[in-house]
Amino acid sequence: MLSGLDPSGGAGIQADIQAVTALGCHPLPVLTCLTVQDTTNVYGAEPVDAELVRRQLACVAADAPIHAIKTGALGNAAIVDVLVDFLGQQPGIPVITDPVIKAAGGGDLADEELIEAMKQRLFPLAEMITPNGIELTMLGDSPNPEEAARRLLEGGCKSVLATGGHGTGEHIINTLFNHAPKPLTWEIERVGGEYHGTGCTLAAAIAAGRAGGLSQRAAISQAQNFVNRAILHALDVGKGQPVPDRG
Ligand code: PLP
Repeated sequence: MLSGLDPSGGAGIQADIQAVTALGCHPLPVLTCLTVQDTTNVYGAEPVDAELVRRQLACVAADAPIHAIKTGALGNAAIVDVLVDFLGQQPGIPVITDPVIKAAGGGDLADEELIEAMKQRLFPLAEMITPNGIELTMLGDSPNPEEAARRLLEGGCKSVLATGGHGTGEHIINTLFNHAPKPLTWEIERVGGEYHGTGCTLAAAIAAGRAGGLSQRAAISQAQNFVNRAILHALDVGKGQPVPDRG
């Protein structure tokens, strides 16, 4: 997994480590950036040196088998290029990409260059990207989810799981768009409220399912139930959004 450090412990690498571990996998965490952040918002982010990321990826890959890769905040375009090179040397690993652009509180986690690098070079290598509503609108350049997903698929994405967690309505609807004629939808009761790190948790849980040999559909169902349970037991660790309990 490649993600940033959120020192509030709600999102980023800690969310990934906790979700993946709870689902029975061993995480190999590679940090892409350090953020200044609390449970309300992100106030700054500093990327890790891309060469260091390259060396870490090579080092862990030479040591241990990798059954899935989850990406979150990626720091900068140079880190995307390092990851793209690495994936070229390790074909066949399922890659689940959470295209992190902004924190729930509005703080930026990606600049234009990073967004373009993800779109042009990383998305075509991922088996699934998991944008929330805001990310889908920005990346697909349309407020209409079907239209935005179609544009991303035309741009080279293999599948787009549009997550509905940040919307309103009694149910959360997650929709998987791919090259099949009809999208697939998953519905789950909405708990209500905003939580810190739900997108990270969902994508990491999907990657854990894929690493364990589940199909994409089964991994999505398992991950959705995992996030629901984590939200139901969310912890009020700070003054902002509660943190999902992934323990
Ligand atoms: N990754 C890092 C390091 C973050 O700090 C954040 C947000 O706050 C995210 C990812 C995005 O989290 P999510 O998509 O779960 O809202």
